[in-house]
Amino acid sequence: MNRTQLSEISWEDFSCLAGGRKGVVLPVGSLEQHGPHLPLGTDTLIVEAVAQRIAEETGWLVAPPLSYGYKPQPGSSGGNSFPGTCSLDGHTLILLVKDVVRELLRHRLQRIMVLDGHYENSLFLNEAVDLAIRESNCKDAKVVVARWFELVPNDFFKELFADDFQGMALEHASKVETSLVLAINEDLVKKDKMRDDAPLRRENYVVLPEQPEFIPRSGVLTGVFPASKDRGQRLFQRIVEECVKILKKEFS
Ligand code: ZN
Ligand code: MN
Repeated sequence: MNRTQLSEISWEDFSCLAGGRKGVVLPVGSLEQHGPHLPLGTDTLIVEAVAQRIAEETGWLVAPPLSYGYKPQPGSSGGNSFPGTCSLDGHTLILLVKDVVRELLRHRLQRIMVLDGHYENSLFLNEAVDLAIRESNCKDAKVVVARWFELVPNDFFKELFADDFQGMALEHASKVETSLVLAINEDLVKKDKMRDDAPLRRENYVVLPEQPEFIPRSGVLTGVFPASKDRGQRLFQRIVEECVKILKKEFS
């Protein structure tokens, strides 16, 4: 069986996997503005593509991605006011991911990597997995939650972007994600709409309800122009390598 998509295999093929050494990657993204030049599904697109490559390299499967995430925050993603940003409440995301992971475990597909592409999903995913494991009572469950942007060392970003890279905190819809989308599907990047921008206001605390004065009009939080397809390909490869390393370390 060479198929990599869980949605494309039959129940008989699935039943052969139960309790076995094969695992499944569950990509989780978001549907949110990524500047005027990138698609709303950028976060999902990235983790789906990474998961697909992991599957090709390891023989693991890819579960259908979850394409919605927790509400983007003004300081890290540009908030919820942009047209097209459709988000889940925190408890909905927890319940959604919990149910999917519990079902996989219930069918004894007990090696799972939850691959997160959206910063704000973070601890909701840990909580979802914790609840799923408890609910499933699966004794051999092992689930890794990984966020691609935390797997790559800062030095590597520095190597790619030199001094243009000022840390992942501001990288929303900027050179890192733009490079990755260029590498994954160049046609989805509107190059004539690319522009550098910056948050209008940044604080070390959160103000609710969301204040428009914190959010740059473009939705871009830092420089876009050092983005390139070549840098995206090198970064993509590095993310895949880090993920494969994790699978070897945790599951062999
Ligand atoms: Zn993003
Ligand atoms: Mn995001």
